[in-house]
Amino acid sequence: MKVSLYNSLTRSTQEFTPLDASNVRMYVCGPTVYDRAHLGNARSVVIYDVLFRLLREIYGETSVKYVRNITDVDDKIILAAKERKIVISELTKEVTSWFHADMDALNCLRPNIEPKATEHITQMIAIIENLIKNGNAYVAEHHVLFDVTSQIKGYKYGDLSGRIQEELESGARVKVESYKKNPNDFVLWKPADSADDVSSVFDSPWGKGRPGWHIECSAMSNQHLGADFDIHGGGVDLKFPHHENEIAQAIGAHPHSYYAKYWVHNGFLTVNGEKMSKSLGNFTTVKNLLDKGIKGEVIRFALLSSKYNEPLDWNDKLVEDAKKGLDYFYRALEKYDIKLDSELNLEDKSSSWFYSLCDDLNTPRAVAFMHEMASFCHDPSKEHQDRKMYAEILWKRGKLLGLLQDTPEKWFKGDESSNEIEDLIAARIAAKKAKNWAESDRIRDTLKSQGIILEDRPDGTTDWRKE
Ligand code: AMP
Ligand code: ZN
Repeated sequence: MKVSLYNSLTRSTQEFTPLDASNVRMYVCGPTVYDRAHLGNARSVVIYDVLFRLLREIYGETSVKYVRNITDVDDKIILAAKERKIVISELTKEVTSWFHADMDALNCLRPNIEPKATEHITQMIAIIENLIKNGNAYVAEHHVLFDVTSQIKGYKYGDLSGRIQEELESGARVKVESYKKNPNDFVLWKPADSADDVSSVFDSPWGKGRPGWHIECSAMSNQHLGADFDIHGGGVDLKFPHHENEIAQAIGAHPHSYYAKYWVHNGFLTVNGEKMSKSLGNFTTVKNLLDKGIKGEVIRFALLSSKYNEPLDWNDKLVEDAKKGLDYFYRALEKYDIKLDSELNLEDKSSSWFYSLCDDLNTPRAVAFMHEMASFCHDPSKEHQDRKMYAEILWKRGKLLGLLQDTPEKWFKGDESSNEIEDLIAARIAAKKAKNWAESDRIRDTLKSQGIILEDRPDGTTDWRKE
């Protein structure tokens, strides 16, 4: 089955045809490592993780190359390192390890390559030199700038974002720096400041300095995926100016290439309708939630509950519903002794569920199909064998989405040793037999205070699960 994707460049949903099916290439703009990732950042990571998993399922694990960069030189990083009175490299190393830990907790696969901007300065300089040679960039007061009015062979500046030149000109009311020819010209290289930390200062033909943000992605994608590749992803906030500038630089430096064929943009995670962001202060970090005992899988499921390119409003109810939904799935799995062979078979791949995922990554529809399967598993009027088969398929489908990673036992009971809990449950059953209701209630309350919920069964046994 073929995937279709909404391509921002052509403004249409298109069937995805890779340039080379044995080497499917995807680049996604990664984090600027100055602080903890918030749930908005996580939404982007989780969405492209699902796309990565889907492409691997279709084209084979070794045939998909996923590159997501780390921006480890940037004004925000310089500022954060100064505030914390540590050197930049120490800050970026620490924040990168936080990012990895948080995204691992959301069960995101690591990309095949995670290039760092500071390790690609030579490639950035080469692209800038090409741009100057091709008449797309100019040097002014130790800066190098991209001239947005210059001729780019094979691309017109503004095509991706849909902003036409006049609009750009009239929209630019901000103070224009004296060294710019046009208000929207953007920086490819900027001079170092004498107070700059040495780890943010690099030699270049234009003097000591550092690259602009946009050139980083053009250089890293070119280095690891080539001048032309399949998919470029990122949040919709990056469409302009970041992606507009990336594409202009890349094609300007490599005329007649087209850079990425499919441009995919994820929608915002919002809070009361407003974009979740550091600057608005309305953010919750992934770590905040994990520390509160909310499982990574619950966060991941919540983030996949709306279509990737539509906004998703974050609130407590969303988390509660995600938890309930996963509990329902795990309860369905729990009833059967399932041996999971992780391969999806051909039938799964021609199902409506798989079709939904391939249909521009329609995760809410795919999840709705999984709900139907789970309710079948819960339905005693259905044949046991059929229910068990559905449970197996449900599990496999969950796994493709990076969900249902636990066993039901682990999901409901956690990792800790259950002996103590089992002993208390036995003591409570004995107390109930002796009609010592006070003791029986006391044990229930003790366990409740530890987050353990007891469920009495009609046959006199008692099961337990974590809250
Ligand atoms: P940043 O570190 O701010 O450059 O963002 C890293 C990635 O997270 C980019 O792809 C952004 O588009 C994405 N992102 C940031 N905030 C949000 C949000 N509220 N909703 C969805 N994606 C976001
Ligand atoms: Zn980028």
